[in-house]
Amino acid sequence: MISTQNLHDRAKRIIPGGVSSPVRAFKYVGGTPPIFVSGNGAHIQDVQGKDYIDYVGAYGPMIVGHGNDYVLKNVSKYLSKGTHFGASHELELEMAEKIISYLPYIEKIRFVSSGTEACMSAIRLARAYKGKRKIIKFNGCYHGHSDSLLVSSGSGALSCGQPSSPGVLDEQAKHTLVASYNDLESVKSLLQEFSHDVAAVIVEPIAGNMGMVLPQEGFLAGLRKLCDEFNCLLLFDEVMTGFRVALGGSYELYGIEPDIVMLGKVLGGGFPIGAFAAKAKIMDMLAPDGPVYQAGTLSGSPIALAAGSATLDLISAPGFFESLGEKSTRLVSGLKEIAVENNVDFQASAIGGMFGINFSERTVTSYPIYSSKERQLFISFFHKMLKSGINLAPSPYEAAFISSSHSLLDIEATLSTFKDFVCNLSREYCC
Ligand code: PLP
Repeated sequence: MISTQNLHDRAKRIIPGGVSSPVRAFKYVGGTPPIFVSGNGAHIQDVQGKDYIDYVGAYGPMIVGHGNDYVLKNVSKYLSKGTHFGASHELELEMAEKIISYLPYIEKIRFVSSGTEACMSAIRLARAYKGKRKIIKFNGCYHGHSDSLLVSSGSGALSCGQPSSPGVLDEQAKHTLVASYNDLESVKSLLQEFSHDVAAVIVEPIAGNMGMVLPQEGFLAGLRKLCDEFNCLLLFDEVMTGFRVALGGSYELYGIEPDIVMLGKVLGGGFPIGAFAAKAKIMDMLAPDGPVYQAGTLSGSPIALAAGSATLDLISAPGFFESLGEKSTRLVSGLKEIAVENNVDFQASAIGGMFGINFSERTVTSYPIYSSKERQLFISFFHKMLKSGINLAPSPYEAAFISSSHSLLDIEATLSTFKDFVCNLSREYCC
């Protein structure tokens, strides 16, 4: 049998950390990450032939599960026509129309190849549109790894204990101001001090890169008001939440219109994609219509759009999000019940196809700093679940994802493993 350790060691010799993205290296939890070979529906299989119920979902895109027939058929159809032309094509237009019909506050959209690119380009556009230099982001929100945004960023950078990265210039970082999530006062005071130079506030409307943290009542509306009052744009990073929490993203749930929205993940159905969109008066600043340069060789990839288009067909079917929400609610409420019965401090919440868990005694409302006990509990939990065939992200600073392919059996198996875990905790916690 192939040894995972050998493969990982081989990879580490020629790929930094043996991985193509840092969170995959298990730095937070320790141990050797499994190496996966296949996926079908809600399950994935590793090189050892072990099967896992997957709640990582490729960190968000796989909302209809792995290897979905309908998605694959559409991808094959477009593959057979040639993979990319570096020119306009019909599917790009159809997808733009489809997305605009789901997000009524946008008029024009540009496709790019990743969420990072979408956020980076949206910031450039916002700066040009407002003629100002600074942006405000929130501690614990992650918007990809472009220089302006890798300042107190979340996700992999947090797990690795690097709130910002060497290589990002001070000159660049000083234009990124950092506020506290769910804390309007922290935004207001930055705006009062720097409003003459703040082009935009960028936020994950539902944060998914410090675990999952929901916006408190009035937070998004308050941001909208502050942005209008201080003449800056409001940017919603829906790379993770777009088409994941509801068909219309956070707008459908909270009714707050951003000036620019960034999309990715589900939109590409498992292929590299990103997009940013806004009203025409903002998007018309972009080249070739306007002076703000932005381009990409593989932008608007027909294959990524084919996967995305099929995925959007599936998730726009009546009842899709209701059924997904029932599953995530069943899972999260089951986990909470088990934790309560066993006196374990544990928080969990779900929204659409996204959920978050942590071993904290308090509800997390902004970037959490876990105690060593909370950290240890997460690590033990993670390894118990993984050993029992349940794949979760290897960090409490990541959200978890459920797909339409997860069955009630998958959910019950997950709950039963969790129950085993909490019942076997030290005597202090034991049932
Ligand atoms: N924005 C958010 C909210 C994300 O979660 C991510 C990635 O996890 C990004 C942006 C960056 O997207 P990508 O990894 O496609 O560059």
